[in-house]
Amino acid sequence: MIETDISRVIIREYTRRLTEHLENDVVIVGAGPAGLAAGYYLAKSRIKTAIVDKKLSIGGGIWGGAAGYNIVTFEDKDILDEIGVTTKKDGDLYIADAIEFATGLAYKARKAGAAIFNLIEAEDIVLKQETVQGVVVNSASIRALGLHVDPFCICSRCVIDGTGHPAELVGMLKTRKPDLFPRELQEHFMNVEASEAGVVEKTGEVYPGLYVAGMSVCDVYNLPRMGPIFGGMLKSGKKVAEQIINKLQNSK
Ligand SMILES: Cc1cc2nc3c(=O)[nH]c(=O)nc-3n(C[C@H](O)[C@H](O)[C@H](O)COP(=O)(O)OP(=O)(O)OC[C@H]3O[C@@H](n4cnc5c(N)ncnc54)[C@H](O)[C@@H]3O)c2cc1C
Repeated sequence: MIETDISRVIIREYTRRLTEHLENDVVIVGAGPAGLAAGYYLAKSRIKTAIVDKKLSIGGGIWGGAAGYNIVTFEDKDILDEIGVTTKKDGDLYIADAIEFATGLAYKARKAGAAIFNLIEAEDIVLKQETVQGVVVNSASIRALGLHVDPFCICSRCVIDGTGHPAELVGMLKTRKPDLFPRELQEHFMNVEASEAGVVEKTGEVYPGLYVAGMSVCDVYNLPRMGPIFGGMLKSGKKVAEQIINKLQNSK
């Protein structure tokens, strides 16, 4: 029966893929520009990587550009060239089509080998021996309906908080360990230059096993917001991937 054949292959392939990724080198929570860039560079280096995102469409805040005008801006284009996104120079900025950027980046991350699970929401972290070792996840629709259904876990050697603002994984740690992050998790007022530089500079491990990339960095370090300029997000994703690749290679 074709009807049940269709269902069977979908269920079989999804559960095969999910089971394969219950244990990973890296789990990235959030498939925005920072999480997808990190996933691309990690997977390209043959690091076993799973990305979860609670939304149906991955890409985070890329799609809408500024106020729905779906053009995105960058200060340089090296990473865009690498992933094959068309750019145009306009004054000191490079511009790209938000749709091409979102789909191109997602395609590269997936083709490099990152497993991407949309509609999966991280609701907690796995913490053992004072090290973050994975995430507790559930179906985003179960979470949205507020149903009383237990989650499952996806484990890894490192976890990246790529949830944008308000840095949800760091927030989960802060709730139980308020002394670790005494400041509120929030961005400061708009200042593009300071934020674009700061977000890359501060990208890194904030707790054993837990890394921040992208807008999460701004929230953790109270850096200024920067609006729809995305170079810092890509560089932050690339930087966190390089840090983790070094760490994993040195711990072999
Ligand atoms: C509503 C909105 C407000 C914005 N405000 C600002 C601003 O104030 N300042 C600024 O500089 N830029 C802002 N932007 C611009 C832009 O979105 C960000 O700079 C950029 O997209 C951040 O990239 P990111 O990869 O860090 O996170 P995002 O693009 O935000 O992607 C984060 C992803 O994580 C997913 N996610 C979040 N929590 C979970 C979870 N628990 N489990 C699974 N997935 C999860 C989300 O679904 C999302 O896809 C905003 C964008 C939007 C859409």
